[in-house]
Amino acid sequence: MFEKILIANRGEIAIRIIRTCRKLNVKTVAVYSDIDARSLHVREADEAVHIGPSPSAASYLVHEKIIGAAVAQGCHAVHPGYGFLSENAEFAAAVVNAGLVFIGPASGVIAALGDKISAKNIAMKAGVPVVLGHNLPVVDVEEIRALAAEIGYPVLLKPAAGGGGRGMRIVAGPDELETALRSAQDETRKAFGDDRIFLERFITAPRHIEIQIIADQHGKVVSLGERECSIQRRYQKVIEEAPSLAVDADLRSRMGEMACALAREAGYSNAGTVEFIMDDRRNFFFMEMNTRLQVEHPVTEMVTSLDLVELQLRVAAGEPLPISQKDVSIKGWSIEARICAEDSARNFLPSTGLVTRYSNLKGRNVRLDSGIEAGSFISVYYDSLLSKVISWGETREAARTTLIQALNRYHIEGVTTNLGFANSILNHPAFIKGELSTGFIDNHYKEGEARIDPPMEQLEAMVIASTLVYHSRQNLVRESLKPMAAKVGPSHKPDNRHRYVVKGHNNIFEVELAGELTSSDWSFKVNGTEYRVVTPIFEFYRRRLRLKINGQDQYFRLQYRENFIWAAYCGNSRIFEIYTPREWELAQYMPKEKKGAQANVLLSPLPGMVVNILVNKGDRVYRGQDLVIIESMKMESGVSSPCDGIVEDVAAAIGKAVETDEVLITFKL
Ligand code: ADP
Ligand code: ADP
Ligand code: MG
Repeated sequence: MFEKILIANRGEIAIRIIRTCRKLNVKTVAVYSDIDARSLHVREADEAVHIGPSPSAASYLVHEKIIGAAVAQGCHAVHPGYGFLSENAEFAAAVVNAGLVFIGPASGVIAALGDKISAKNIAMKAGVPVVLGHNLPVVDVEEIRALAAEIGYPVLLKPAAGGGGRGMRIVAGPDELETALRSAQDETRKAFGDDRIFLERFITAPRHIEIQIIADQHGKVVSLGERECSIQRRYQKVIEEAPSLAVDADLRSRMGEMACALAREAGYSNAGTVEFIMDDRRNFFFMEMNTRLQVEHPVTEMVTSLDLVELQLRVAAGEPLPISQKDVSIKGWSIEARICAEDSARNFLPSTGLVTRYSNLKGRNVRLDSGIEAGSFISVYYDSLLSKVISWGETREAARTTLIQALNRYHIEGVTTNLGFANSILNHPAFIKGELSTGFIDNHYKEGEARIDPPMEQLEAMVIASTLVYHSRQNLVRESLKPMAAKVGPSHKPDNRHRYVVKGHNNIFEVELAGELTSSDWSFKVNGTEYRVVTPIFEFYRRRLRLKINGQDQYFRLQYRENFIWAAYCGNSRIFEIYTPREWELAQYMPKEKKGAQANVLLSPLPGMVVNILVNKGDRVYRGQDLVIIESMKMESGVSSPCDGIVEDVAAAIGKAVETDEVLITFKL
């Protein structure tokens, strides 16, 4: 085994590789750019080398710098991770020329499989079914027109050099061909410096099923089962699982044999993934082969109990594979959610910022592969993947609920993420039924929101959590203000029932709760439905609340400001406003008398954007009246006046972003 390796990557995958190296007693050298100087992967590694400015073209992609660092630190091998230089044939060759081992296949094999046209030829030679198409570069529109007519519309224009879903164009009919070709060529020239485009039949609503293989340098190839990666946005994966509902034992072994045949034909060694597309009649066709470790490799590890990075290191070191095909068995189910810094509501645009609060995840059957911590800065320079949350269960349903609970208690603040979106997918009835296809997100979501309403029981659970936190805070404050004497002795309030009216999005909930602050048992009635709620200790910590509702542990993420509570649970996020029945009435009828007015400023209860201001300087306003509308987490919320008074100044401006506690309006009382 190697004594020391350099990891030519960053973020979660660098940390993932370090974990296995520690287990194998292999020393690690990290590389980092300017902006990554204080990042987690640098601290986790045994040594670290600065390789230049933040843009990856000046650091993580510079062959000489990385190889120079590896040589200078006395490394024996380079692990490229995924992305960056992982599928770069020239880099692999340069590593070898420097006398080091590249942890991946031979340079020539990367080149042959990295080109989609040549890869498809290798697949055909190995007897692997491929998507019907024309497997040569096309430039002439007339030629494509003739070919497309033969193949049948819709057709897909694909870049030979492609990756990351870039440069592909679906063409529905002959009129669209010319523009589609030009724009595909443009995009791929910019992205890959190569504008060769080829043509294949576009399979509608297919599933993406891929086979993980591992091959050593002695001709042994073993397949490790499939992963289903049909949940995609912009041709990129969001949720992956192993095994797949669409694959039975027979199909698994047929696809596995095909993948191994392809690897043998190519002379492959290393871990690798053969990607297939599957139509609704379970016909599968080769799409491409990824000659590296994949983002979603953990789901395979969870169901096979293998360590893929360890196997990569062993075969790269020349060891024979320690396993044979008969040793591979699939146990249970695993699902992964990719957590990315992106805004699902705005076409998955990447987002940046400082992670101001971050909760780690632990738990039975939960694995977190994370590259960030509180204080990490998410910059524009690299990929938006922050972490991956992976679950395991005996059944798909067990893995699904475990992952949902994990996401319910995973909290990342400061940067917009797709955490809620991913959780929402896991909760979607079509996902539950396993009705998956690459069109899933387009079919079931619009601007990041599910096209169907969340189940009422989920909303009611959120109402319970919000009301309980509000109630406890209100009363704990009141209790702590009472003189000691009043706290001891019997409660002078025999009736411990409390009623609240909770407004949330388009719903009004009537809530009745009964329980003592000092006890852990509560009974709730929400719009007539009864719930038994247990708070083992009042566990509200780092924005997370744990409750047992009707015997089931549930986690919520909550943020409060006065009577506004933001709650996130099972992919729903809502802002609830909590009123006593009396306050609610007053808020409805805008009381004329001055009562209970203290504060003379209106602060923003949440971060968001001001979308409307309903009053002007000099207006008379009443407590409870909505004054400003703020959009946050894709929802508009009215922010109501804390007092009766006259508007002295409007600090808020339409279209302006506001932070929690920012002054929106000041009043003369
Ligand atoms: P990349 O290198 O960008 O990963 P792939 O060839 O793997 O390119 O394709 C990415 C995704 O595009 C697939 O997962 C699938 O959703 C979709 N796709 C690719 N080829 C086809 C096809 N012929 N028909 C329908 N969808 C396709
Ligand atoms: P931390 O969450 O890092 O411990 P704080 O000191 O801000 O930081 O809060 C202490 C605890 O008080 C939190 O863990 C949480 O339980 C609660 N808390 C304080 N402010 C809020 C808020 N605005 N929303 C939700 N919980 C809060
Ligand atoms: Mg692919």
